[in-house]
Amino acid sequence: MRGTLKLFRIFGIDVQLHFSWWFVFAILAWSLSTSFFPHYFPGSDTTAYWTMGIVSVFFLFLSVLLHEFSHSLVAKTQKIEVENITLFFFGGVAGINDEDLKPLPEFMMAVAGPLFSLALAGIFFLIYKLNGHAFLTAITFYLYQLNLVLALFNLVPGYPLDGGRAFRAVLNGYYHDLKKSTKIAVLGGRIFALLLASAVILYLIHGSGGGLWFIFLGGFLYFIAGVSYEQVILKEALNQIPIMNLLTKDYLKIEPTLRFSQFLDQHLDSDQDIFLVGNSHFSGILDLKRVESMPAKVQKLLTVKQVAVPLSEINSLQKKDTAYTAYKKFAEQNLEIFPVMEKTKLLGFVTRRKVMHRLVWSLKYHIGADGESKKKK
Ligand SMILES: [Zn+2]
Repeated sequence: MRGTLKLFRIFGIDVQLHFSWWFVFAILAWSLSTSFFPHYFPGSDTTAYWTMGIVSVFFLFLSVLLHEFSHSLVAKTQKIEVENITLFFFGGVAGINDEDLKPLPEFMMAVAGPLFSLALAGIFFLIYKLNGHAFLTAITFYLYQLNLVLALFNLVPGYPLDGGRAFRAVLNGYYHDLKKSTKIAVLGGRIFALLLASAVILYLIHGSGGGLWFIFLGGFLYFIAGVSYEQVILKEALNQIPIMNLLTKDYLKIEPTLRFSQFLDQHLDSDQDIFLVGNSHFSGILDLKRVESMPAKVQKLLTVKQVAVPLSEINSLQKKDTAYTAYKKFAEQNLEIFPVMEKTKLLGFVTRRKVMHRLVWSLKYHIGADGESKKKK
């Protein structure tokens, strides 16, 4: 995902922080320190409130992280691959490779997060009730409520929230139709988002400003529900197309030692922007969209190889991959063409244009992998 910072790697999972978190950190620390804590626990000074605010935000981060980890660890016990966890606005997303996800593992994975948050809420509540140190009482008062909200909000049966995932798993177990189940679960999410927004409008009429956050939350939920549904449709269409069906074998190659200026002269009349670099071996991709303009002097100095993206920096596709893997990789690496490898052997290339073309045809005219295989037989 774009705009993320990799924090660390644990249990083979990359933990990434989306930039929206910095806003959440800042706004929450500020509102906790200047209004929440002074309101509920009067009598301390500014420094104490700010310390409470910052410590609480740190524990909020930890709570969300642990929530996501419980999804991921259950996923691992179900042999579902987890690539990464991205913490972003309002929570996290576990990058789960959920192709061919069976209903029961999906259900268990989905409920693991909210259940863990519920348990955390219980623990913080106990510490709060033990009523020891004033500082501890204040932050656990906030943290038990936060984890409770995290658990309840995520249990709402609207996809892509956890509750929606669990709901979809149940539907899928009944219908054996992922598309249909997702559609219903997404509808659940939209209904909830609208209910939330209307509840807040009523609340606002009664004269309180705090509800604005919830309108925002509702809008956000409505938006991600739509995006997720499109993702499922797209994924289903592309996953049916083996990458080998889209393979191009021959592609114009240029000499790595050629000066960039010479290359420009030779290919002035070419209608393409992407060239493969290599003589006997393929060593990189020259994508002119990624090459910035440079003075004539520099063009004469640099070789094509120096300007190109080297093979070592390209996360190649493998023979067994589908068009969906290619679609994801094109977006991640912002390349127009990808080599397809069998271990270290180069099999050919796949272009983004071809993948997108096939996607449109399969969505519009319902022809995809099946059409291809019929043609071959
Ligand atoms: Zn969750």
